Amino acid sequence: MNAKAAQRHEVLVLGAGYAGLSTTIQLAARTRKRGNLQVTLINPYDTFTERLRLHMTATGQDTARLRLPELLDGTGAGFVRGWVTAVDAEAKTVRIDDDRTLRYDTLVYGLGSIADTVAVPGVDDHAYTLNSPEDAVVLADRLSRIDGETVVVCGSGLTGIEAAAEIAERHPELQVILLGRQEPGARMHPKAKTHLDAAFARLGVRVRSGVDVVKVLPDGVELADGSGVPAGAVLWTSGTRVSPLAAAAGLTIDERGRVVTDGALRSVSHPDIYAVGDAAAIRQGYGVMHGTCQGGMPTGVHAALSILRVLAGKEPKPFRFGYYHTPVSLGRNDAVVQFTRPDDSPRRIVLTGKRAAKYKETVTAAPWPTFARMKRMPVSGAFWPHGGRYTRIRSAK
Ligand SMILES: Cc1cc2nc3c(=O)[nH]c(=O)nc-3n(C[C@H](O)[C@H](O)[C@H](O)COP(=O)(O)OP(=O)(O)OC[C@H]3O[C@@H](n4cnc5c(N)ncnc54)[C@H](O)[C@@H]3O)c2cc1C
Repeated sequence: MNAKAAQRHEVLVLGAGYAGLSTTIQLAARTRKRGNLQVTLINPYDTFTERLRLHMTATGQDTARLRLPELLDGTGAGFVRGWVTAVDAEAKTVRIDDDRTLRYDTLVYGLGSIADTVAVPGVDDHAYTLNSPEDAVVLADRLSRIDGETVVVCGSGLTGIEAAAEIAERHPELQVILLGRQEPGARMHPKAKTHLDAAFARLGVRVRSGVDVVKVLPDGVELADGSGVPAGAVLWTSGTRVSPLAAAAGLTIDERGRVVTDGALRSVSHPDIYAVGDAAAIRQGYGVMHGTCQGGMPTGVHAALSILRVLAGKEPKPFRFGYYHTPVSLGRNDAVVQFTRPDDSPRRIVLTGKRAAKYKETVTAAPWPTFARMKRMPVSGAFWPHGGRYTRIRSAK
């Protein structure tokens, strides 16, 4: 190793999702001329997974192949294709599934989250998920082979709503039933909820709320009251689970396994590790942030800015983020956009129908060109709503 390489600060970014990719591009673009910092991104695929489109993949629709090496070209950031199997926070190394070990000075943990397939028996064995592009393709194949049967979508959150609508629109030959504890859109303004209900009625999606799925079987689901719902396919979208790697590495985690961070987005137990996106438990004035792409990208950018400030011997600034919308697709030609206060509570302003579908598509398509723009002009990614009084943490003063 030459002297220059020995002095170089190594940043490893785990996960090329919305958050990890934001950190990578920001760091690389802001430091490419300096040569004293090396950023390396690790991800199992060499393409960017647009999670926001996985319900489209699951219904046989083609989506763009967004190649990570092309995006990173010219930034100086390295790319390693692999699945991270362990983090050693004391030795400051990361193990990859091909048995390589990579060293870091600073680690950025952005491994995202997936639907929880372990809490309810049978989910792992019999249910389909939207947890990865492969999972979505497997579901697409199943849906194309069960003409006339029922598809049960478990989970009435936003992923369940979008998936149920998409399946019903693309597969009118199937009966779609959405099961969940809560009414779909329960947190929306009544105007948005009314539109959602009408869209489900139009698409023929049957909704059963107030039900608890206690078991998934090869041919349907069992409910808490002992009754069953037969199905040719069960899609599981309920709950969230994060990678167990942070817990195994001894990082301080919250009750859902997310890395607990300080205001700079550093792990509170291991300040040389930053956590971003769905994998992080980030406290704001309104509570701990929940996983979204709209919040995930700013966390990624902020972690990059914090790392650069710390390396420059400056105090990092506290992260602040306020939500502003919840766009929900209802098939390809309809959607509902619930505008929100910074704490994610619904405002009265709602967009519906074709205009909402256009809005949702614009939002979904935006991250990739945003990354490309950040590469040329990093500052363009550094603006997001800070949430005013909603995000202020009083005890921090
Ligand atoms: C169908 C669907 C629709 C959605 N719609 C919206 C929406 O409209 N608006 C919105 O804001 N949010 C939406 N979300 C949520 C949004 O996708 C997530 O909040 C967002 O992806 C989080 O970004 P992230 O970077 O933290 O994680 P991710 O985007 O999930 O990226 C994590 C990355 O880490 C990689 N990874 C995981 N484990 C390992 C490992 N061990 N080793 C190496 N790499 C690993 C993954 O492959 C992935 O590339 C939706 C989600 C789904 C499933």
